[in-house]
Amino acid sequence: MLDLLVKNTLVVTSDDVFLGSVAVNNGKIAGILPTNTNEQADTIIDGKGCYLFPGIIDSHVHFNDPGFEWREDFSHATEAAAVGGVTTVVDMPLQNEPALTDRQIFEKKYKTVKEKALIDFAFWGGMVNFNLSKISELNDCGVVAFKTFLAPVSSDYTSLDYGRVREGLSIIKTFDGLAGFHCEDYGIVSYNEETAKKKGHVTRKDYLKARPVVAELVAVKTIIELSRESGTRVHICHVSHPQVAEAIKLAKYQGVRITAETCPHYLIFNEKDFLDNGMFFKCAPPLRSEEASLRLWDYVKDGTLDLVVSDHSPCADREKSESEGVFNAWGGISGVQAGLQIMFNEIVSKRNWSPTLISRIMAENPSKIFGMSGKKGALTLGFDADLVLVDPNAEWEITDKSLKYLNKSSAFIGCKGTGLPVCTILRGKVIVQDGVIKGKHGIGQLVRRNIC
Ligand SMILES: [Zn+2]
Repeated sequence: MLDLLVKNTLVVTSDDVFLGSVAVNNGKIAGILPTNTNEQADTIIDGKGCYLFPGIIDSHVHFNDPGFEWREDFSHATEAAAVGGVTTVVDMPLQNEPALTDRQIFEKKYKTVKEKALIDFAFWGGMVNFNLSKISELNDCGVVAFKTFLAPVSSDYTSLDYGRVREGLSIIKTFDGLAGFHCEDYGIVSYNEETAKKKGHVTRKDYLKARPVVAELVAVKTIIELSRESGTRVHICHVSHPQVAEAIKLAKYQGVRITAETCPHYLIFNEKDFLDNGMFFKCAPPLRSEEASLRLWDYVKDGTLDLVVSDHSPCADREKSESEGVFNAWGGISGVQAGLQIMFNEIVSKRNWSPTLISRIMAENPSKIFGMSGKKGALTLGFDADLVLVDPNAEWEITDKSLKYLNKSSAFIGCKGTGLPVCTILRGKVIVQDGVIKGKHGIGQLVRRNIC
């Protein structure tokens, strides 16, 4: 007798789609069976007409807990993620009080959030200008990567100069870890912002001007050279422009150990959305031209961009006020709940591409890159039974009421499409059914980096 059987569904692996059933025992995938299997189970879910994906791994989120719970907290954020088909997140070290920069803070954060978590979670460690001596102990704790800002950053965090980046990479190399970067050149962006503010140029257009593509390109190319020198694995966060993707593609071809991500907002929105609609579309790097957003898809399809992640970065509505100028408004877009439905609509419903692309860029690749191989990210025997059923015919519109975030404002409100997650399963347990939370907070477990 099985614990759970998802029957008669379109199973989507990273390279195939077929009619079948997935058997689950003790929280693990126990078999991929024919669609008409007679196996019995405690719980049987009929997946007729639906696609069954591995649970989504969103490896770039800012859940703001502990420290900034008026923006978001682990309870609301993991509910939203679960409704959106996400079964594992990797939470960023900043927008935490204090930022996650050593072992003590790691343990404190873990204790604070574990009772709230409805899905599994891992942590990015911080790499800032005062904690290079703590990098190895953070690795021992099980952080899955280290986050560094090259651009100015407006919080409790510090940016790193290239000298310290080089030192950090040499430390991370000793345990073959992963260094992730927010790539915008500090000198270009801070000079542009200071000059604009002095002149009183603080409109939406001035924000776009202050963060040009070349700032992203200069930073990415420098990281490529530093990785080439050290041999350390590097990951480029939120690529916003095809020129940047092209530089990464060339570096991959040359054997540099580099991976990269983009976000749904760079793929479906553009600078006009920001200029017309304002601060809920403010992010860094900023939204680019319509042509750029369309061309970015080529690099998702060809594998240059390994991942699509939300970079979920919520705030209170008052922090989006533009009254003190564009530079003072909070940057960041809330998207952890919307990622799968947006990508399914774009990839399968609109473009008629294979849904296998979703399994690759939103489950298998993040698992491999962030040290969860052998455990998560694929519909493979013995892996955690993290699953999500998507009804390809369900039509949706994102409204503030449909969002589970603490603060229900988001750039994605008003988006419409077809194809919606209808059942999310975490390690064999149904945690969301038809948008209704079935799981208990505290069920989520910490995922530590798999070092083997
Ligand atoms: Zn981020």
